[in-house]
Amino acid sequence: MSIKNYQKIVKSIPSNVKLVAVSKTQPIEYIQKVYDGGQRIFGENRPLDLVDRYEALPKDIEWHFIGHLQTNKIKYIIPFVKLIHSIDSIKLLKNVNKHAKNNNRVVDVLLQFHIADETSKQGFKLSEIKDFLNEGGLNNLQNVNVVGVMGMATNTDDFNHVRGEFKNLKNIFDTLKKEFFNTKEDFKEISMGMTNDYKIAIEEGSTMVRIGRAVFNDDIEI
Ligand SMILES: *Cc1c(COP(=O)(O)O)cnc(C)c1O
Repeated sequence: MSIKNYQKIVKSIPSNVKLVAVSKTQPIEYIQKVYDGGQRIFGENRPLDLVDRYEALPKDIEWHFIGHLQTNKIKYIIPFVKLIHSIDSIKLLKNVNKHAKNNNRVVDVLLQFHIADETSKQGFKLSEIKDFLNEGGLNNLQNVNVVGVMGMATNTDDFNHVRGEFKNLKNIFDTLKKEFFNTKEDFKEISMGMTNDYKIAIEEGSTMVRIGRAVFNDDIEI
């Protein structure tokens, strides 16, 4: 593995878009190589893998969690995780708050919305979050800092379809910003875009792309 693709991606991404290098399933040596190439933000989708890699790799890495998070695994990642992209239920949000409080931390989180066709993908509906926020649901959750939204598009070659889903997530972000987070500067992130669709995601307003295969595999055309 070389970091040729990684360097190409870094060059092609506007400076206001953050790259989360998704290192799930990659060997530690590959992650170290990308780190040596300058990357400092990495994402994992399994809590125990995240812990292993946190322990094995340099401590100035910003670790993001991007996968479905089970309640009984929250405690492993809370002491060090920088951003949880995948808050997909109110129950999870409350539990993350509880563990963050026990650790004397305020943890940054994104609300994951269901924008794809596949029912296997997780996430809120906009109406659920609006109801929660209208009821003042965040008032008692002082140890989570909601900094934006996340979504995964449908896995399809129909890029117009994918673009429509990203537009939908951008609209959700704009609606929440306007109605609930107008004065909150921290609420600014739209995490969307992966290997197959990150260019479209950036065109549609992504502030954070989560790229795995294209960062670590030289044989993927980008
Ligand atoms: C695996 C994964 C990615 C990266 O996908 P690639 O196709 O490897 O770029 C991004 N986001 C989530 C939530 C993932 O699980």
